[in-house]
Amino acid sequence: MAAQIETDGYIDNYYVRTLQEDVHYPTLSGTEEADVCVVGGGLAGINTALGLIERGKSVVLVEAKRIGWGASGRNAGFVAKGYAAGEQNLEKKLGLEKAQKLVSLTKNARMLIKKRIADFNIDCGPVLPGVLTVSWRDRADELKRTIDRANDNFDLGFEFWPREKVRQHCKTEHYFDGIFSPNDFQFNPLRYLRGLAGVVAQKGGRIFENSSAIRIKKDGADWAVHTTGGCVKAKDIVLSCAIYMEGLDRRLENAAFPVQTYIMTTQPIDPQALKDAIDTPHCIYDTRFCSDYYRLLPGSRLMWGGRVGLWAHPNDIAATMLHDIHKLYPQLKGHLKPEVSWSGKLCYAPHKMPQIGKIEDGYWYNTGYGGHGLCPTTAGSEVVAAAIAEGDKTYERFAPFGISYAGGKLGRYAAQMVYWWWRARDILDV
Ligand SMILES: Cc1cc2nc3c(=O)[nH]c(=O)nc-3n(C[C@H](O)[C@H](O)[C@H](O)COP(=O)(O)OP(=O)(O)OC[C@H]3O[C@@H](n4cnc5c(N)ncnc54)[C@H](O)[C@@H]3O)c2cc1C
Repeated sequence: MAAQIETDGYIDNYYVRTLQEDVHYPTLSGTEEADVCVVGGGLAGINTALGLIERGKSVVLVEAKRIGWGASGRNAGFVAKGYAAGEQNLEKKLGLEKAQKLVSLTKNARMLIKKRIADFNIDCGPVLPGVLTVSWRDRADELKRTIDRANDNFDLGFEFWPREKVRQHCKTEHYFDGIFSPNDFQFNPLRYLRGLAGVVAQKGGRIFENSSAIRIKKDGADWAVHTTGGCVKAKDIVLSCAIYMEGLDRRLENAAFPVQTYIMTTQPIDPQALKDAIDTPHCIYDTRFCSDYYRLLPGSRLMWGGRVGLWAHPNDIAATMLHDIHKLYPQLKGHLKPEVSWSGKLCYAPHKMPQIGKIEDGYWYNTGYGGHGLCPTTAGSEVVAAAIAEGDKTYERFAPFGISYAGGKLGRYAAQMVYWWWRARDILDV
């Protein structure tokens, strides 16, 4: 199996190819001191750093590779409120009021992302509104009830789209009716993240790339984070390492399991052929457990993602994605040439909620965002920054979703069985 190609320290992907500037942050050597050391330069880490700096704290952030090397620089770019666990599950577990409070954090986060794009003039477009969830099943009444409940209980602003309208946008008979979310949007996540990192650096945050944290020790009243080349001493530390913990903290590592998912982008497609299949500016995904997710890119290109698994198969990604596209849109056969394909690892806890909290005084974690992380990382990072800088207690709302054991290696195999089972259900439509 071929390894995925690296470009300037990143796994090659569409977003990396859109980077125009080439800002490299130094590698840590020697000792740095700060109020807070953040470990991990994905959306969780960078948003935490920014939230802390905005609240008056000094911050050092260490990233093992490049800023946005992980899921944050490889995702589909759908910016949608809510969590991977879904509103109904939250309501079932916590009751309506507590669930509403958690969901509203992500609605605020969606506004904050837009505000930051504007305030900091981050070039991460096109920023286009609308995410359409299409139903794989002929169950309009059920969909309408779901929309009513979500709007009544969580004020989500969902619209019902009848199948005729869905099929004007997505010219496939596999889809039935849809749920349209007009306030969700799409952007280029790597350019956004690197824009935010630039703001962190401008405001005095010290960012180090190629600086993997390998050991954390108590150092008097402070913490010492040792990297391959140096050390950061800080009163508080925040671990935002997602699924790449690699022994740094076994409690967090064992509380999550990795899920691979796959994306391909195409070379420019004949515009009329594309229009005859997919004619929409919105992000699309469907109601199956193993959903396809896709959107159009500038220059008449298509970004197509889908499938989940515990292992990456780089050789197969483009062929698998093409197979899935042709199944839905046979009219595109002969029109698609893959440009680049890649996989990314999601960090899932069994409860499918972010893991936010502290293990002991000054030792914080902000991780576990799964496949739905763009709004939630912004929300969770604000919560952690406010807790550290202002003693805010909102983080306690995440306590029911802790860091209990996810089964270690065996848990991963069990998860694979569950994915196969769900995929079989998708295929059999039960
Ligand atoms: C293919 C794909 C499609 C997706 N699509 C969407 C989508 O459309 N919408 C959405 O909302 N979400 C999506 N997601 C999920 C979303 O990308 C993630 O939830 C989110 O990016 C998680 O951010 P993070 O900062 O927690 O993790 P990551 O981005 O993975 O960052 C973790 C970082 O920590 C660093 N690190 C780890 N260990 C150390 C260490 N010891 N020392 C220093 N640094 C360390 C890693 O190098 C990495 O850069 C998708 C994910 C993938 C993979």
